[in-house]
Amino acid sequence: MTGTPLDSEIIADLDHDISTSTGSTVTVFQPYTGEALHELPVSSADDVDRAYARARLAQLAWARSGFAHRRAVLLRAHDLLLAREELLLDVVQSETGKTRGQAFEELFQCAGVVRYNALAARPVLRARRRRAGIPTVVSTQLRYRPKGVVGVITPWNYPLSLGIMDVVPALAAGNGVVQKADEQGALSVLAARRAFIEAGVPAELWAVVTGDGDGIGNAVTTGADYVCFTGSTTTGTKVAALAAQNLTGVSLELGGKNPLLVLDDVDPREAAANAVYACFSSMGQLCVSIERIYVQRRVADAFLAAFVAKTQSLVQGAAYDWSTDVGTLVSPAQLARVERHVDDAVGKGATVLTGGEARPELGPYFYAPTVLTDVTPSMLCFAQETFGPVVSVYVVDSVDEAVRAANASEFGLSAAVFSGSSVRGMRVARQIEAGSVNVNEGYRATFSSIDAPMGGVKQSGLGRRNGPEGLLRFVEPVTIARTTGLLTLPRTGAEFQAMTGIMRLLVRALKAVRRR
Ligand code: NAD
Repeated sequence: MTGTPLDSEIIADLDHDISTSTGSTVTVFQPYTGEALHELPVSSADDVDRAYARARLAQLAWARSGFAHRRAVLLRAHDLLLAREELLLDVVQSETGKTRGQAFEELFQCAGVVRYNALAARPVLRARRRRAGIPTVVSTQLRYRPKGVVGVITPWNYPLSLGIMDVVPALAAGNGVVQKADEQGALSVLAARRAFIEAGVPAELWAVVTGDGDGIGNAVTTGADYVCFTGSTTTGTKVAALAAQNLTGVSLELGGKNPLLVLDDVDPREAAANAVYACFSSMGQLCVSIERIYVQRRVADAFLAAFVAKTQSLVQGAAYDWSTDVGTLVSPAQLARVERHVDDAVGKGATVLTGGEARPELGPYFYAPTVLTDVTPSMLCFAQETFGPVVSVYVVDSVDEAVRAANASEFGLSAAVFSGSSVRGMRVARQIEAGSVNVNEGYRATFSSIDAPMGGVKQSGLGRRNGPEGLLRFVEPVTIARTTGLLTLPRTGAEFQAMTGIMRLLVRALKAVRRR
């Protein structure tokens, strides 16, 4: 079994950056081996309050520092992140048990997020004129004021990229951040944060706290001027309810049961290769992972044969190099959840085409990538998110049937359509009820498009991250309008009587020239 390559001094040094005064720790384990990775310091609710107080002070100067300063700092952080690739990939793998390639995907995503927000903040958020209600008499300006200090709550599954995807636009927009990192992802957040601090982000501006979801999570939610939550729909709903008590805004990036439609004009082998990555990357512990495949009957046999063969050819194991295709589940709880879903399905008549069992010879939480057919609505994995390497394949007779089945879900996070014709693929994509739809790719086409919004419909979330929409979450639009002094607006009956003629003319003229 392969233990972490991380130096214990490096880990202790990173742990030191957590905002805590409790002296308490919790043991975090390595998914590859089940051995202890480190003793993570734990924060108290008072630590969270202190972190907010310090971040609020730091935020005042950060907001005043201006777009150009923040852009320069963030672009320096971009380069530092890339320069620390080896360390960051080791940390991500040590915490998550994913492969080197999938850890690299996180770093690549981070670079895109930092670059985009550093460069887009000013064009999106600079002050601008808006059309005045009464031309020449009134002049109207829109300014964006940072929200203040944003509470960011992040999960363990993509600790590096999801760890910073909300933090960076919040900072770029002039806010401070208090982040509650999941225990299993805290080191990745801390290692990334170091790059930002060394690049010039004030340490107190971005605090990291840890601790149990309910206690520390609640303190982060109630102290915030805006909350970004990434995690399960159950927890996200609780966070939104708590935030609503203070009328605090939230964005929620939640779960999915993401469908893939395989149309009858695909090259079955190419479609199968892409589908395998979309289902089993990071062992399916990915919010946008595919868990349902609807394949048209004409290509079903060829697709399924290629899909199963490709799944069986995946190299699974624990390695801090590029030699594996899939890694392990992250914890005993994740293993138990996957086993529960598969055993339930098999007990109720599902067929296992491949996988369906743990692989303890590789490590304590390894599970074989699993393909199921004959899955029915009575089974847990039919509609619930498994969040593991388990996909159900359904054969359909028409595109309409596939679209109907794809949309018959309480979730609507991400989806994919594979077709030999990109025009046809795009046409079908427009019929899917999801925040993101990929054509001829499982999830990376949309996930990597940082200029475009990402988020879910239905139970998959509220609000959007990425793109201008993602930046605009972190500011209050403030309208400032002044009279120009060219004309005095009527105040008395007599003044109105004198001016209504010209005012009627004005509104008709504005409509005639189509001025909004
Ligand atoms: P989770 O909801 O259990 O935990 C997420 C985070 O919330 C953790 O840091 C946890 O400690 C914290 N938390 C728990 N209770 C809390 C509370 N009451 N108040 C505040 N914070 C609390 O989710 P998880 O198991 O860590 O992550 C897996 C889930 O996240 C899956 O459903 C997955 O689909 C979803 N997810 C969604 C996205 C997305 O972008 N849409 C991305 C990754 C994961």
